[in-house]
Amino acid sequence: MADASLTALYQDIILDHYRRPRNKGTLDRASVSVPMRNPLCGDEITLELEMNGDEISDLRFTGRGCSISQASTSMMTEMVKGKRADEVGVIGERFRAMIMGDADAASDAVLDKARALAGVARFPARVKCALLAWNALERGLAEFAARSDTADPETER
Ligand code: ZN
Repeated sequence: MADASLTALYQDIILDHYRRPRNKGTLDRASVSVPMRNPLCGDEITLELEMNGDEISDLRFTGRGCSISQASTSMMTEMVKGKRADEVGVIGERFRAMIMGDADAASDAVLDKARALAGVARFPARVKCALLAWNALERGLAEFAARSDTADPETER
């Protein structure tokens, strides 16, 4: 069976984030709220971002699903809090490359603890679990940017 390889996949750091998720909850003043599902596995999260201009000043998530999806979301929130959208884009790109099996990305310090998820590259069925949080984040930033382009808060009623 796949038990041995699954054991390698579910490393301590992943289980720690799954059992004690960071930044779980909701925000009083969310700029964007993004629900995202992975029907293949049944994972679901709702990601809330509080933006200060181009910077993610705070973020929270709620959700449920497999340990990969929830731990990946928890790690993502720690990595991007306080960062600008362009910095987040770079990190997200590296994370995506790592999950798709890029060895250089898997050793890139910018990914910090999220490198614990590098093993997901060997389990194609779990790729969508690991990317769920980053897909939600990208959609949230895009929605916020689109809204900022068309609506100037100074002139909004
Ligand atoms: Zn999953």
